[in-house]
Amino acid sequence: MAPSKVHVFKAGYEEVSVLKKCAELVPFKNRKVWVKPNLLGPDPPETATCTHPSLVRATVEVLLDRGCEVWVGDSPATYPTPLKVLLDKSGIGPALKGLDVRWMEVDKLPPVRLPLRGLSGLKEVVVSEGLTRVDALVNLPKFKTHQLTGFTGAVKNFYGLVPRKAKKEYHARLTNPARFSALMVDLASSITERVPSFHLMDAITGMEGDGPKGGTPVEIGFLLCGANPFQVDHSAISIVTPDFKVRTDILAKKLGLMGAYETEGPLKQGWLNLKLPKAYKLVRLAGALPRLPGVTRLIAAPEILDTCTRCGTCVRNCPVDAITIKGHKAHIDRSKCIKCFTCAEVCPVNAVKVQKRLFNR
Ligand code: SF4
Ligand code: SF4
Repeated sequence: MAPSKVHVFKAGYEEVSVLKKCAELVPFKNRKVWVKPNLLGPDPPETATCTHPSLVRATVEVLLDRGCEVWVGDSPATYPTPLKVLLDKSGIGPALKGLDVRWMEVDKLPPVRLPLRGLSGLKEVVVSEGLTRVDALVNLPKFKTHQLTGFTGAVKNFYGLVPRKAKKEYHARLTNPARFSALMVDLASSITERVPSFHLMDAITGMEGDGPKGGTPVEIGFLLCGANPFQVDHSAISIVTPDFKVRTDILAKKLGLMGAYETEGPLKQGWLNLKLPKAYKLVRLAGALPRLPGVTRLIAAPEILDTCTRCGTCVRNCPVDAITIKGHKAHIDRSKCIKCFTCAEVCPVNAVKVQKRLFNR
């Protein structure tokens, strides 16, 4: 059997023919397909928060031309922003205007249970029933840094198939970043074993720094695609300088989920000096320091800045209800906070910053 491949294209968003060439590698026709972009929040394309609308459009056009019934959707992190606002602001709605697509609103569909291997300790997760309504999944992740997991790509993008309430619960139960990363690997593995899938990563403009929402756009210039999400992520991570270690990638390799594969195309490895998220660096540093009884611990903790607009988004999305609005801004109860950094991920004005602290409260 020929080894599987990750295809790499040098591309720009205006190069529609290249985007389509990449999308044409998707092996589905005459099927019901869920196209799953990263639709994290109501942020325009220039912020590099969501999958670029041009790639979403090219993919949908190819699938429609092949007789597929196309559904587009995600479970955004920024509840309660309505889907219409997310689609409009991200540019994905206008880009798909006039095309025969249906919307998959993850949080409005019933949940179904999905068995796991138990890599994180969880034996099952709840995912959207939408997964049972389609025959195939086209995963359109965005190359970004991530405060908790270090990197978000094809594997982490599956977390958007989990309804919001369940996502909060898993964050609260898996407070250790290693266990949370193990859940991401387990989830991606379980879904891809059950639903035929293909993965097209938008690494044309990625995000560095405090991703996945408040970071800085970084020009990378590639699209990567393949049938195995672990291979696609591994190829994307290999673009970064060798000191970039990602837990999901290491675990997938250890478990043999990546398998042997070849890359085809102009993949240049080890050149991107990616600025990593502050929280991720601090958590790694703290983990490397010796733990001595009675010695203060170095921790990464979220702080709310005076630019907070009291919108309440972080209050609604904090998994352990550690945030309240008091006076002119939101406040965090440090005795409850589990340092999941969801508040930093969802804040519409980036008013949550991760700071280095020596005490837990
Ligand atoms: S305050 Fe922020 S970091 Fe702490 S638990 Fe809530 S969402 Fe997570
Ligand atoms: S910190 Fe951000 S998300 Fe939370 S209330 Fe303030 S502006 Fe809203």
